[in-house]
Amino acid sequence: MTLFSPVEQISRIGPAFQKRLKKLGIKTIKDLLYHFPSRYEDLSKITPIAKIRFGEAVTVIGKILNIKSSRTWKKKISLTEALIQDESGTLPAIWFHQPYLLKILKPGQFFLFSGKPALKKNQLYLSNPAFEKIDQADNINTGGLIHTGRIVPIYPATEGLSSRYFRYILKNILAYFDKKIPDPLPTETRENQKLLEINKALWQIHFPDTEKSAEEARRRFAFEEIFLIQLWALIERIRLRKEKALKFEINLPLIQKLIKSLPYKLTDGQKKSAWQILKDLEKPYPMNRLLEGDVGSGKTVIAAIAALNCASQKGQVAIMAPTEILAKQHFREFPKLLKNFKLSIALLTGKEDKIASKKLKGEVLEISRQKILEKIAKAEIDILIGTHALIQKNVIFKNLALAIVDEQHRFGVEQRAKLTRSRTIPHLLSMTATPIPRTLALTIYSDLDLSLISELPKGRKKIITKIVSPAGRLEVFEFIRLEANQGRQTFIICPLIEESEKLRVKAAVKEHEQLSQKFFSDLKVGLLHGRMKTREKGKIMKDFKAGKLNILVSTSVVEVGIDIPNATIMVIEGADRFGLAQLYQFRGRVGRNIFQSYCFLFTDSRAKRTHQRLKALIGAEDGFKLSEKDLEIRGPGDLAGTRQWGLPDLAMASLSDLSLIEAAKKEAVAILEKDIQLKKHPLLKERVESFKKRIHLE
Ligand code: ADP
Ligand code: MG
Repeated sequence: MTLFSPVEQISRIGPAFQKRLKKLGIKTIKDLLYHFPSRYEDLSKITPIAKIRFGEAVTVIGKILNIKSSRTWKKKISLTEALIQDESGTLPAIWFHQPYLLKILKPGQFFLFSGKPALKKNQLYLSNPAFEKIDQADNINTGGLIHTGRIVPIYPATEGLSSRYFRYILKNILAYFDKKIPDPLPTETRENQKLLEINKALWQIHFPDTEKSAEEARRRFAFEEIFLIQLWALIERIRLRKEKALKFEINLPLIQKLIKSLPYKLTDGQKKSAWQILKDLEKPYPMNRLLEGDVGSGKTVIAAIAALNCASQKGQVAIMAPTEILAKQHFREFPKLLKNFKLSIALLTGKEDKIASKKLKGEVLEISRQKILEKIAKAEIDILIGTHALIQKNVIFKNLALAIVDEQHRFGVEQRAKLTRSRTIPHLLSMTATPIPRTLALTIYSDLDLSLISELPKGRKKIITKIVSPAGRLEVFEFIRLEANQGRQTFIICPLIEESEKLRVKAAVKEHEQLSQKFFSDLKVGLLHGRMKTREKGKIMKDFKAGKLNILVSTSVVEVGIDIPNATIMVIEGADRFGLAQLYQFRGRVGRNIFQSYCFLFTDSRAKRTHQRLKALIGAEDGFKLSEKDLEIRGPGDLAGTRQWGLPDLAMASLSDLSLIEAAKKEAVAILEKDIQLKKHPLLKERVESFKKRIHLE
């Protein structure tokens, strides 16, 4: 039996248990060993029976004086009663529905019992206490206890798999390996960071001697996970540097011409980001850069600068948006931004066969999908805008230089490879409005270079944000009507009730029905959700943008980057269900013009924590600080990208621990500096490889 043997090989685990373990993602012995307790209970102190008190959890050690089982009250409940004795007195204990205990708890034998004393008719007793057999009352320091008389592990609750079961199995596995499990962490790393050796750490995380040693063990495993991610990211980065990409000089006069044509001045953040990107494009290896900036910070124009620089030097550019609506928005924006240059820009989406291809100087051509594909292959199209359709097999670029990916957190290495069939790899620019906390950027995004636009263009008014209880709803609706009469528009985002898109759509449809028929029967209310046909969605967005609708009710999945300058009110139903970063993004869709804008956070919740979170949004002007706050209050559960990475809980929890993450990075660099191939660390190499498989599955 090795660490990588399947759990089936453990004779004590029958088929039913195998199934339940599989449900938890536990397939191998290693998985089982890395299934850590979610908490502990300290049952280590033994109290004399005479000293126990009502309501205080205790562990007592005693002899069974007598035990009997009976059926009570119309024979529905089976009751087992025992009397326990130690030198100071006696104590009754009862168990429900466990008549088999008669065969285990035999009179005259010694056991440990842990539980909370209850009181009945002035008599203290233990109800359903945990128990464990010991040989003699004075011989409990054998170290062999796992259920009582020590700090006991409590495992995450799972149907059919009790903590007692995990303790039993894990104890046996750990004993089987007899402290001979090889440690994937290099000795020097462990010594530098004062981390427990793996065998000790495994024992201590499952069966800790003290709370402190449990904590030390957790730290070691958290470090291990983060360290693996760091190694992966560094190796990935180095690997990419060895690849070839097309390089492009910075065509300054052309770029200045573009910047001069804009009706505004670039912010400092925009200038700096554009420069970093242009410098990357000069290099002979592929860029891998994330451009991060709030909604409305002006990322599109940065993308246009990069695209212009490549396209003007015969490199083709692919721009990918997550939805058709956004792709179409880019298809309107890019030709406008690049109107002074002789470039041909086309749109390619999934379903339609007739596609508008815009030649510059105002000429719009309706050409077929087939024609577009031909033109791409002949490099007659410089910039191709689209959805995921761009990475389909039949889209073959002649000379793809740069891929720009909007609002998608991870564009995998594999996807990038799909875009090209030549010997060079395209430069990659990802853009996102999701604020990523520093710890997260340092871990799961650390293979990327980061450009930040941290300020919004000047002259934008602060958005007035209010938390609204159910009693305040009507007032807000009246306000919406007032604004509508002034020609302003409103977004209403429906709550994130269920994971299922189907149910979300249902909620939106219902809300739309109510609002359009009741409160706003005098106004025009549109509906947008993920299950509508592309054409319908497009029409609704067009109508909203053109001001033909006063109110747009929409599900939360819809269109992060949409630009409706005339919208001044953002209403978020069930605001407490969203992460702060997401709320921040919703809010960013208003406040894009000279009018005062508003964001109303509807909530039924009265919980203090909820209000504390939502209040953070009221004051927040900086999405990055906000995301760090969210991490603090809510944990990283729904932060950008953590889910798709399937990070283990321990690594997730440590994402708020900056010092741990920095230490892991430092050690990963130190190891790779000496041994880039990890030749001296085969175990580590193996773990990094399996980690790679995990993230490439997405
Ligand atoms: P996002 O970063 O969310 O993609 P956009 O690129 O859509 O933002 O820009 C939002 C709006 O801000 C657009 O209407 C754009 O024309 C405008 N904009 C971009 N940069 C500036 C700037 N430096 N000053 C003023 N307005 C700007
Ligand atoms: Mg955008």
